[in-house]
Amino acid sequence: MSLAEITARLHKAEADAGRETGSVRLIAVSKVQPNARVEAVLEEGHRCFGENRVQEAAGKWPEFRERFDGIDLHLIGPLQTNKARQAFGLFQAIHSVDRPKLAHTIARLAQEEGHCPELFLQVNTGEEPQKAGVLPREADDFVAECRALDLPVKGLMCIPPVDEEPSLHFALLAKIAARNGLTGLSMGMSGDFERAVALGATHVRVGSAIFGARDYG
Ligand SMILES: *Cc1c(COP(=O)(O)O)cnc(C)c1O
Repeated sequence: MSLAEITARLHKAEADAGRETGSVRLIAVSKVQPNARVEAVLEEGHRCFGENRVQEAAGKWPEFRERFDGIDLHLIGPLQTNKARQAFGLFQAIHSVDRPKLAHTIARLAQEEGHCPELFLQVNTGEEPQKAGVLPREADDFVAECRALDLPVKGLMCIPPVDEEPSLHFALLAKIAARNGLTGLSMGMSGDFERAVALGATHVRVGSAIFGARDYG
């Protein structure tokens, strides 16, 4: 597929949901993709990208930023506290705030640096032991804790279990966000972003459908 096709599908999903065209942010997930593919998407004018590792992002985005203006980079993968400062220098948004310790580290850095990326709190909606994020029943307390730290919490993020209907998880995330007065919903990937938009996603994270399959070779 291509950026143009995915954008067209996204616009149709927005229209079907009665939402304004362009109201959902398309994060092109460029992790592991060859630079040539990423560059092609930059040449097409797209500027919003997602990476899931700080190290990998640090290796390619400073150079792209020298050549392309207005790049908006989102961290969508787990963040170790010792990489948080580096993440502040690279990312405009962090979608993987998944534990109090990280929230406290980010709050301290925000004080020191005088700015903070936009934040999404990750909720482990499927309660999977191997997955990051707070449990749904812990989410309200975690939102409150982050707000008490004055963090710029934009919304919530989830990654549904691969073998379950994602819509149930999207609906659960939307419900938790609504009762906490949060408007941002980072949910939906290549296989299910239209369903996520139907349930209120404000940010979809689409990788392989734009760039092709990832080669972990
Ligand atoms: C890799 C990744 C994506 C993109 O997945 P695709 O299926 O390639 O669209 C989205 N979100 C997160 C958190 C990811 O790690």
